[in-house]
Amino acid sequence: NTRVVLASRPVGEPQPSDFRIETVPAAVPGDGQLLLKTLYLSLDPYMRGRMSAAKSYADPVELGDVMVGGTVCEVVDSKDPAFHPGDVVLSFSGWQTHSVIDAHHVRKLDPHAAPVQSWLGVLGMPGFTGYAGLLRIGAPKPGETVVVAAATGPVGSAVGQIAKIKGARAVGIAGGPEKVAYLREIGFDAAIDHRAPDFAEQLAAACPDGIDVYFENVGGAVWSAVFPLLNDFARVPVCGLVSHYNDTAAPAGPDRLPGFMSDVLKKSLTIRGFIQSEFVQSDFKAFVGDMSGWIHAGRIAYREDIVDGLENAPAAFNGMLAGRNFGKLIIKVAEV
Ligand code: NDP
Repeated sequence: NTRVVLASRPVGEPQPSDFRIETVPAAVPGDGQLLLKTLYLSLDPYMRGRMSAAKSYADPVELGDVMVGGTVCEVVDSKDPAFHPGDVVLSFSGWQTHSVIDAHHVRKLDPHAAPVQSWLGVLGMPGFTGYAGLLRIGAPKPGETVVVAAATGPVGSAVGQIAKIKGARAVGIAGGPEKVAYLREIGFDAAIDHRAPDFAEQLAAACPDGIDVYFENVGGAVWSAVFPLLNDFARVPVCGLVSHYNDTAAPAGPDRLPGFMSDVLKKSLTIRGFIQSEFVQSDFKAFVGDMSGWIHAGRIAYREDIVDGLENAPAAFNGMLAGRNFGKLIIKVAEV
């Protein structure tokens, strides 16, 4: 078993030395367990949080432990009658080539229903995050303006396209002309490059009626440009703050909190954080039905950025935090 473990806690951007690749003998499955071979590993921004010891909604990865992550795996050996070698399952076995796991922790996938790796992206946790956060908290009405950044990623692209399906206007924000062109191709009403020097002016021009729903994925300069454009009764599902994940200190003053709170009050804003797991019980089944239907009907497009080789996971992960991925970032760990 080859695996990537957390070697040290990063300060700022993770460095190659914060990860260690090691090879250990594969474990042997006991009763009710499976030996899995990883086919695909999902890389997601939340993993930066797990590398830090700061208190969060989930425990950190301990030093020397395997980096966590969602995976699609093939069953190699089964000590559970419901699974057989060759079955493909959705697991959470992390950054490693093999794992032993209790069978009740995995879900069998039908390889004919959808490309198996799509359960890590458009049909999986990130797609669900966009769906649940937008519909449960953003609750866009027809004709309203919905804005989302990191819009070519798996969360943002779901948000924008579902907003369109619900009759809203979708404005996407992304880094660079290629990503912006892609957003227009897949049906966003407007798309803006957050790296443009006149980004805030372009955003204002793209939102002539203000913003009713801002799905917050990034924070930073994007949030600063969005905030003055929020309409009365706007909703802000706070999903992620990826522009801050490598921050080492709070930004220098002035203290903008009083002005911010004053607008929250005067505009009756709803700013509501969420972790997608909150909605799994109530909404995941409906999500899979809706999302599969929309994909088949050509109403949702999705893009995957598949990188070969577990050894390339640390660099690819850093690239994602900096916007060098284009679509859902997935590591292909072994041939299907
Ligand atoms: P993406 O694949 O979209 O990758 C992150 C993207 O963030 C980058 O590609 C980059 O895109 C963008 N980005 C990075 N820095 C900046 C910046 N300074 N300004 C603007 N954009 C920036 O990731 P996901 O779709 O997987 O995740 C999107 C967000 O959703 C993240 O914040 C993540 O933490 C959050 N999330 C939250 C969950 C929850 O339960 N609350 C669950 C899953 C995800 P670009 O090149 O366009 O700038």
